[in-house]
Formats: sequence, C-alpha cells, structure tokens
Amino acid sequence: MATKEHILIIGAGLCGSLLALRMAQLGYKVTLTEKRADLRKADLSAGRSINLALSNRGLKGLKLVGLEKEVESLCIPMHGRMLHDKKGETQLSSYSGREGEYINSISRTGLNALLLDKLETYPNVDLKFKNACTHVDLKQAKASFKTDDSDSMFTIEADYVIGTDGAGSVVRQQMEAERGFLFSHSQEFLTHGYKELTFPATKEGNYATEKGALHIWPRGENMLIALPNMDKSFTVTLFLAYEGGGYNFNNLTDEAIVEKYFKEVYPDAYKLMPDLKTEFFENPTAPLGTIRCFPWNYGKTLLMGDASHAIVPFYGQGMNASFEDVVEFDKHLSNADDDLKTAFQTFGQQRKTDADAIADLALDNFHEMKSHTAEDVFLAKRKLELEFEKEFPKDYFSKYSLVTFREDVPYSKAIKQGRAQDLVLQEMIRKNLFKPEMNLQEKLNLVLQVSKKAEDNELIFDL
Ligand SMILES: Cc1cc2nc3c(=O)[nH]c(=O)nc-3n(C[C@H](O)[C@H](O)[C@H](O)COP(=O)(O)OP(=O)(O)OC[C@H]3O[C@@H](n4cnc5c(N)ncnc54)[C@H](O)[C@@H]3O)c2cc1C
Repeated sequence: MATKEHILIIGAGLCGSLLALRMAQLGYKVTLTEKRADLRKADLSAGRSINLALSNRGLKGLKLVGLEKEVESLCIPMHGRMLHDKKGETQLSSYSGREGEYINSISRTGLNALLLDKLETYPNVDLKFKNACTHVDLKQAKASFKTDDSDSMFTIEADYVIGTDGAGSVVRQQMEAERGFLFSHSQEFLTHGYKELTFPATKEGNYATEKGALHIWPRGENMLIALPNMDKSFTVTLFLAYEGGGYNFNNLTDEAIVEKYFKEVYPDAYKLMPDLKTEFFENPTAPLGTIRCFPWNYGKTLLMGDASHAIVPFYGQGMNASFEDVVEFDKHLSNADDDLKTAFQTFGQQRKTDADAIADLALDNFHEMKSHTAEDVFLAKRKLELEFEKEFPKDYFSKYSLVTFREDVPYSKAIKQGRAQDLVLQEMIRKNLFKPEMNLQEKLNLVLQVSKKAEDNELIFDL
C-alpha cells in the first residue's frame, strides 16, 4: 500500500476519537491530540453531560469501525418517554410503534474510552493528552500546542488537520480570524441553561424509577429529564431559564428556595434526590446554544462534529450527528479516491444542509419536550402515529422515527417530511377531520396524501 498522508486530529472527544479510528483503519498516519487528561485515568465528568442517548445514526458510526458488538454492553435500552405530571402520575409513550426500535442510554466516558482503547491497538496512531492546541496554520497543516504541566510550546506538522475540538473550537476561531467575511459564523444561546443532578440507586440497590425509559417532567417553561446509568443511578438534568418566570437559575440562590422549587414543581422527583441541595450548588450551570458556520474547510484544514455544528441537546442527536459526520466523510473520501482536499470540500458542501436541519429539529424539540408532550393534541397525535407504525410499519414513520431510527434518511429529508406530517396530523386532530367511519388505513392514506402535498409545496394551508 502506498504511504498515506499524516492527519492531525485536534480534540479526542467522541467525534475525534471515532474519526481517528476510521482514519487509522484506512491506513493514514494519525496524531490525535487532546487538551484534557486521559479520561480513562482521571475523573473528568464535572461540567459535561454524564450520559447520552445513542441511536441509529451513532450506531452506524460505531459499525463502520467494527465496534457495534462491543458497544452493546454499555447500552441501556430506553423504549419510550415516561412523562411525569405534577401529581406524580406517569404515562409511558413509546418512541416507535415498530418492534425493536428504541434509543440507548450510554456513559459518555465509557463510550469515549471504548474508542480510545480500540485506537491504541493501531501502530499508526499517536495519542497525546494534556496538549491544548493554541494556534493552527490552516494552509500549512501545522499546529501549536501548550502542554498542561508546563508552559512549554511545541508544534506538530502534518499533511492535513481536522478540528474536532468541540463547540468552543480553537480551529474554528482560527478560520474565522483568517477568513473574515468569507467565513460565516453564528452562535445563538437559549435563555435556558442546564444543571445535572442525580437519583442514586435505592437502599436496596435498585433503580429509583423505571429503568427502560427516558423520563420527562414537562412543566411549560422548565423541564427535568432523567436517563439511567449502569450503576443503577439516573443522571437528572434540569433545564431552566436564567431569568424571568417564577423560578430561575438566578433566583434559586439558597437551599430553602431550591427545596421549595423542587417540592412544588417536581414533587415525585424531589423524593428521589437525597443530595439535591449539595448537588445543586456544587454542580455547574451551563448554557445551551446552537453554533453554525461555513465553510467547514480552508487550506488543508477541516472542521467536524460540534466544532462545525453544535446543537441544543433536545433531540439527543449531537453525538449521533457527529458520528454520522464520520460515516459521511468516509464516503466522500472513497468517492474522491482518497484525495483529502476534494473530500474536505465535498463533505462540507453536502453535509451542511443536514447539520442545519438537525439544529432546527433540536430547537423544535425543546418546545415539544418542555410543554407540548403534556398537551392533549400532542398525545393524540403520538397515539395515532404509534398505531400507524404498528399496523403499517413500512408505510409510516413519525418525525421522531425519521430522525432517530431511519439512519438511511438524511436529516434534511427528515425535517421536511416530519414537519409536514406533524402539521397535518395536529390540524386534522384539532379540527376533527378524522371521521368516525374511517378505518386506520383510510386515516393513514389521508395523512400521507396531504402531508406529501404540504412537503412538496412547502405550503402551510388551512385544513
Ligand atoms: C447536556 C447535554 C446533553 C447531551 N445529550 C446528548 C444525547 O443524548 N445524545 C447525543 O447524541 N448528543 C448529546 N449531546 C451532544 C454531544 O455531547 C455532542 O454533540 C458531542 O459530544 C460532540 O462530540 P465532539 O467530539 O464533536 O465534541 P466534544 O465531545 O466536545 O469533544 C471535543 C474534545 O476536544 C477537546 N478540545 C477542546 N479544545 C481543545 C484544544 N484547544 N486542543 C485540544 N483538544 C481540545 C475537548 O477537551 C474534548 O475532549 C449532549 C450535549 C449536552 C451539552
């Protein structure tokens, strides 16, 4: 085999580690650098989401590198949303009407460690921790680094650089500085932030609530969610505005107010959080934002993962999309006969529309999860969609299914079709357009027919 190029990948998070693995498998010489310590040796969880929802698009990335079996032992299947109302009543709504479609709760550290362990088995990989990139020469593929334990700087020269250094990407900042108005960049923050809390395992060593679901406490402007962990705890995330409304992050300033807020708004969850008051003040509050930029490549440098498209976490798709980036990039590289420069360009041009689509879908879902999930029309729509999926598994895919379980459908197609279906279904339910004499097949035919029209014409019409 001809000697392949040397690729410098900056950022050994989820995207960088998967990408490095794929590039190593393709025979490239890979240097992967990370500013933090090796997460397999140090506890780095503070301030980062501890567990994540992994679904089909992410699994497709793991399959590409041959880790689909190994990852199974890290996954806890979540079959649906379990909604908790203020009285503590629960309702389980499946994610899909089809058998075998579910999402998985997975530890961020466990998954990242799996990728790094595999990566280390390749002789053509050099893995460097505690090396923070401070500057990139985008045209020369040369980057400067500062080591964690000293102020000394050093440089790595490669043939190409790929920045997978997350939402605060230094590589992206470098592109912006160098390209000026030829580089578009936007950053939009929500008025909400998030804080992670815990339901520990019960005294008997069991899960404190149903293990096989993603739990949601929708409360209009606030929301609590919980995902299960392997140690039988749950990671609980509070999404709350920084200011305004009755309670917000800026006025939850002492233990008494925090206790009052949780007892009042999340009474059943409150009972499962013995360490609430300590955790609330010890754990960081972090902002939530969407980052878009373009182009993703310049000179001999490319951006990938959150560095090029960070999204809010409400579709559970940020990592999944970043893994799908690697799969898509792999295709572009193959189509370009391993010409990296061409692949950098075509990948960015094609993938940008999909990245924008999932960013928009994630914002849609913010509103859907915190309030609509508890509304009657939403519940009726989900019920009908689940019936369609169960009875006609090949003919109907809800927006959620298109995004989460149809890894063969690009996000840009999923958003068009899914939004049209949502609109049509909700309007039909609101206006009682499903006649009592219609059977399920007739209802489905009507929905498909009208939503296809809505999708094609991009019309929002009065039904
Ligand atoms: C609260 C929350 C919940 C989420 N839940 C989900 C979910 O359920 N499902 C899902 O799919 N996604 C989820 N996401 C999104 C997911 O976390 C990201 O999309 C994913 O981590 C992106 O991977 P990445 O490798 O591109 O970036 P990151 O994971 O941020 O990795 C970037 C890496 O680069 C390193 N780095 C940064 N700067 C430098 C530098 N200068 N030099 C060297 N290294 C550097 C960082 O230390 C880090 O290791 C969630 C995000 C949040 C905030």
